[in-house]
This record gives sequence, C-alpha cells and structure tokens, in this order.
Amino acid sequence: MSEKFMVKPMRWGFVGASHIAERVIPALRKVPGQEPVAVCSRSAVRAREFATALGLQASYTDLAAFLKEGRFDAVYVSSTNEQHCAQTLAALEAGCHVMCEKPIAMNLPDARRMVEAAQRAGRVLGTNHHLRAQAAHRLMREIVAAGGIGRLHGVQVSHAVFLPPHLQGWRLDAPGAGGGVVLDILVHDADLLRYLAGAEPRRISTHVQHNGLARGALEDGAMSVIEFEGGVLAQTHESFVAQHAATRLHLLGTEGSLYAVGSLSQAGTARLWQRDAQGERELEVPPVDLYETGFRAFAAACAGQGAPLATGADGLRSMAVALAGLASAASGRAEAITF
Ligand code: NDP
Repeated sequence: MSEKFMVKPMRWGFVGASHIAERVIPALRKVPGQEPVAVCSRSAVRAREFATALGLQASYTDLAAFLKEGRFDAVYVSSTNEQHCAQTLAALEAGCHVMCEKPIAMNLPDARRMVEAAQRAGRVLGTNHHLRAQAAHRLMREIVAAGGIGRLHGVQVSHAVFLPPHLQGWRLDAPGAGGGVVLDILVHDADLLRYLAGAEPRRISTHVQHNGLARGALEDGAMSVIEFEGGVLAQTHESFVAQHAATRLHLLGTEGSLYAVGSLSQAGTARLWQRDAQGERELEVPPVDLYETGFRAFAAACAGQGAPLATGADGLRSMAVALAGLASAASGRAEAITF
C-alpha cells in the first residue's frame, strides 16, 4: 500500500484471547504509535497466558473493569461472533474506537445498533475484512473501475480451504456462536465482491453441504450465486474440507479478464494475470501484511484521516449477505438481501 498515513499514538485493548488476536498484535505493533496493552477473556488462566505470550501489561475477565482501567483509545473485538455486538457497544460506550471481527453481529438489528452507536459516540467502527488490503484485490478493483476489462459481468470465487485442526472448535459445532462456513467465509467473499464490483448485492441463492467435519446442522461447504445491482453475477464456493486447494478469483469483463491465485489466503501473497486482446500477462503484486495494512488505515481513520478499509456499515452489509445465504439454503429459494 502506497498511502502514507499520519497516525496518533493509541492504547489498545483486546477482547478475546483468540488465535486471530495472536496474529493481529504483532501486525499492530508494526504501525507507529500503536500500543497493545491488555486482554479480556472469559477465563483468567487463558487471559494470563495470552498476556504473557503476547507481551501485554494486563489481563482481565471482567469487561467493565477492563474498559474502565485500561484507558484504551481503541479496542479490537475478536471473541466468538455472538459476543461481538454487546462487547462493541460496551467499548463504544467507554469512548473507544472499535475494530470488530466479522461477522460484526448475528442479526441485522444488532449490527444496526453497533453502527448507530459508533455514529452517536463519534467513534470509528471498523470491520476486519482483511482481504481489502490484498494488493491483488486493490489492483483488480482499480482496473475494473477504469474499464480495463470492459464491463464486469461475472465473478467466480473459489474460497475452499481446509480448516486447520487448531480452529476446529466452535466453528464446527456451535450454531449459537455463529459457526459454519457461511458466517465464517462467505461473509469475507461478500465484502470482497462489493469492494471489487463497486456495486451492492441484491439477491442470493445458496446451497450448503455437510461433509462430516462440521457437526449437527452446521454446514462445512457452500456454493452461492449472488446477483448485484447493474447485473453482475457472482458464483462463490466456500469450504472447510478442501485439502491442498489454492484459492482462485476470476473477474470476467466484456473486454478481458483478471485471474488471481492465492489472493484469498491470510498470507498476503498472490499471483495475478490479465488477459485481453493483447494476450495474457502477469501483473506484479507485492506481498502485503494484510492485518498491518488494515490496522494502519484504521489508526489513520481514528486520527481523522479517511476511513477504515471496511467500515462498520460494510460489516453490516457483508453479514446481511451471509444471513440471506443461510435463509436461501433453508428455504430452497433465492432470497433478497436487505440492509
Ligand atoms: P478462536 O477460537 O481462536 O477464539 C475465539 C474465542 O474462543 C476466544 O476469544 C476465546 O475466548 C475462546 N478460546 C480460544 N482458545 C480457546 C481454548 N483453547 N479453549 C477454549 N476457548 C478458547 O477464534 P478465532 O481467532 O479463529 O476467531 C475469533 C473471531 O475472529 C471470530 O469472530 C472470527 O470470525 C474472526 N476471525 C477473523 C479473521 C480475519 O482474518 N478477519 C480470521 C480468523 C478469525 P475467551 O476470549 O473468552 O478466552
């Protein structure tokens, strides 16, 4: 990312002793002035171990005490999904900016309350849709917006991965915590499609499957067709059980196409090709720390410059797509997407 942001020093609190927070904290430390201070977990032991391992000053189990004593400028919420809304509202109420993990909530009214609470408090609410930071996606968006492949009409997303053993917990057996591949991965794809197409999704038709990794009613595979305003059609495939598969993203325009391999992973690397009347060529895509880039933009937004890569309102919209996808899988019909 070429932007040079001025950021102010900020004290950060972490709600959730999670795997993703372990990855985010070192990334945040690369952004000037950002100081990870304390963690809040439901378990005192987990909180202490997390704080020690990540070099934080303090650990808490009580959210109110954490928010009161931490004197945070910003809070990162990466608990299980059903806790995001209440914890974000509490952090906003305490005067903090909030970067919340996806899906930002479990239903539309809660997501709306979060967005409205941030507006009322005059605080920044971001959604950690890290794929907007991928250099391949930023270049694809620019090329599409400049008409470089003509009129975009179709998108294919293959975001089928193998859920690593250390993450095979609540995602596979806890519907109440927002488990399942739709709320976990389709939500990212929905945001990325909005970002790339520069258009809003209107209808979704989703089929889900049960390959035996997820338990009970939870799905571990899904395929959808999403219709966007302006007529773009997108196909998406999300899976927890695809071993040894590269992710793929294919944008099809009336004058050419763009094809990325590996861009949907967390690694921040990718290969990207453009094909048109001049033939096929590979485009240069620098590797990026997706989380550092997202938190850099968030910190700048907190300092009054620009907006987070994905706002709270973006998180509401990506969540709405995923919820409509689940409704479609249950009803057997295409469902309207409402925000
Ligand atoms: P984890 O399973 O690692 O953590 C979620 C919660 O589970 C933690 O807050 C913690 O609760 C609890 N927990 C963690 N380890 C244990 C354990 N050993 N035993 C019992 N409980 C444990 O989830 P993720 O980090 O994968 O996901 C957290 C959030 O981040 C989700 O909302 C997810 O959707 C999102 N996410 C986003 C990503 C992105 O790239 N944007 C990538 C991965 C996840 P407590 O805090 O109470 O200790």
